[in-house]
Amino acid sequence: MLYSKLFGKTKKEVKEYDSISHKLLTQAGFIDQVASGIFEYLPLGKRVLAKIENIIKEEMNAIDAQEVLMPLLHPKNLWEKTDRWNSVDVLFKVKSQWSNEYALAPTHEETVTPLAKKFINSYKDLPLALYHITTKFRDEKRAKSGILRGREFGMKDLYSFHTDKKDLENYYQKVIDAYLKIFKRCGLDDIKITEASGGSFTKKFSHEFNVITPAGEVDLIYCSNCSFAQNEEIAKEKNNCPKCGHKLEKNRAIEIGNIF
Ligand SMILES: [Zn+2]
Repeated sequence: MLYSKLFGKTKKEVKEYDSISHKLLTQAGFIDQVASGIFEYLPLGKRVLAKIENIIKEEMNAIDAQEVLMPLLHPKNLWEKTDRWNSVDVLFKVKSQWSNEYALAPTHEETVTPLAKKFINSYKDLPLALYHITTKFRDEKRAKSGILRGREFGMKDLYSFHTDKKDLENYYQKVIDAYLKIFKRCGLDDIKITEASGGSFTKKFSHEFNVITPAGEVDLIYCSNCSFAQNEEIAKEKNNCPKCGHKLEKNRAIEIGNIF
């Protein structure tokens, strides 16, 4: 298609935004802001999203995850059942004119668990891994950093079900490897993985994937020699990498994925 026909042209000047990505993507005609934290993707931006989604789907399918599509509108009772209706501070709540209340989903444990329960009848149905790629909502008090921290954004989420802890641990490592492949295929080579310290089950199995960039929105202490990284608050007292002994560095980073 001719560039002259393309909807969304490069702009010489755009106003100043709080993040460089917001400015450059607007200037290059990839996105357009509707309101704070709410964006439209123009044809160029949509092409990028489709390419990333294809990479993600290939790597998820390669670890036997199956794609589904779950709703964005969640009945209040599902979130009351998990005790998260009031405890998730960014939960978007909407009231129907017929007086039912709903959450606009920021995550899908509340629907995927009842769904899996309906179809898992024996250990032979396990392991089971389901994922989807869809819009998420966060009722941010102050949306910032362009598409990095919006009120509405796209996300891939994967949920897995196992017969025992060992099977979960094996699959957990497979997912880490799959995520690293996805990031590499997207052109992100230098990924730092934060590991929460402490021995509890949930802490042991919680990893964040970060890419180091001056345009980042969090501070990260990391090793330039291996993939070790920790959030600033817990790593303050350390000077050297606990894994390889190399001197630790500090820089801005963007969180691009997590597993728990
Ligand atoms: Zn290291």
